[in-house]
Amino acid sequence: MGIVGSTIVKFLPLAPKFIVRWFAKRYFAGEDLNQALQAIKRISSEGACFTIDVLGEEITSMDETTFFISEYERVIQMIVEHNLDSNISIKPTAFGLHLDFELGLSNMISVISKASEREIFVRLDMEDSSTTQDTIDALTRLHEMGHENVGIVFQGRLHRTLSDIQNLTDKLGKKLDIRICKGIYLEPEKIAFTEYSNIVDETNSAIELSIKNGAYVAIASHDDPVINFSLNELSNAGMGPGIEDPRTNSDSSKLGKGPGYEFQFLMGVRGDVRRKLSNQGHLTRVYLPYGARWYEYSMRRLRENPDVALHITKAVLFPWTNRR
Ligand code: FAD
Repeated sequence: MGIVGSTIVKFLPLAPKFIVRWFAKRYFAGEDLNQALQAIKRISSEGACFTIDVLGEEITSMDETTFFISEYERVIQMIVEHNLDSNISIKPTAFGLHLDFELGLSNMISVISKASEREIFVRLDMEDSSTTQDTIDALTRLHEMGHENVGIVFQGRLHRTLSDIQNLTDKLGKKLDIRICKGIYLEPEKIAFTEYSNIVDETNSAIELSIKNGAYVAIASHDDPVINFSLNELSNAGMGPGIEDPRTNSDSSKLGKGPGYEFQFLMGVRGDVRRKLSNQGHLTRVYLPYGARWYEYSMRRLRENPDVALHITKAVLFPWTNRR
């Protein structure tokens, strides 16, 4: 799989941009806010809610953070004006957390406060392992300051994830909202699992632990073994569609969320599975990226994880295996 994906990634920059756009268009909502709104209206009819992500490239100076601050403020305004069932996902490095922790934190707070005034939840996406500790520290600080409308992501592939979940649930208890995914960044063996079966097992263990510890759990995987495991764990915990979260250690008062859990999907990926879960009554959320820098962003993601290129190629060539 790695070699085929790497070969596609090697030749992709030679392809004209309009061809790359044709491949990429099912995975992002457009270049501006209005196109994002149209995509949301279209997918809403499938019973999904949303988390909106503003695409951008890695920033190298604090000046570049002003774009993300003002663009996310526009997103919040749009959610309110159009009464959308959506929250937002932000990348801490886009706010400068890796350049200057305190300044980055205060940049994030300006968006998080505006979201909080409108009762909108904010997810801190998890980036590569060089940012894991800073992101956890930022989340902890934000909660200590009273910004409880913020949650985090943990990546099943990292060795540290189970102990991170334990530490953070010990600290924040039922106020913690965790998205669990496998992790898109390929990390070295000394800190991460690299075999598919280990990554699935650890992702499942992370989901199991988060459910047990009372956190709100957003299951973000398109992979059947993870989805089926989660359905089974939820059922064992007495959780499911239309059932009030029975965990005594959880917080069931979260606005706009499911009964202790939800399923999340990337836009354009395995829509048939998402629609099936939604029809069964589970809350499903679509991660909806948009932005003018979609080309640079997609290229970087593909270079970081060539397996994604193979998924995309397969989805385009054999559309019946992966409905949008
Ligand atoms: P895989 O085994 O990779 O995929 C299972 C099947 O899903 C594939 O066979 C294919 O049919 C389909 N598929 C998966 N990905 C694609 C794709 N890109 N295009 C087409 N088909 C595809 N990672 C982070 O590191 N940090 C984050 O903050 C983060 N947030 C995420 C938020 C959401 C809502 C989701 C769904 C994923 C997020 N990820 C994040 C990415 C995640 O870590 C995985 O890299 C990604 O979801 C692929 O893993 P998988 O569990 O879907 O399984």
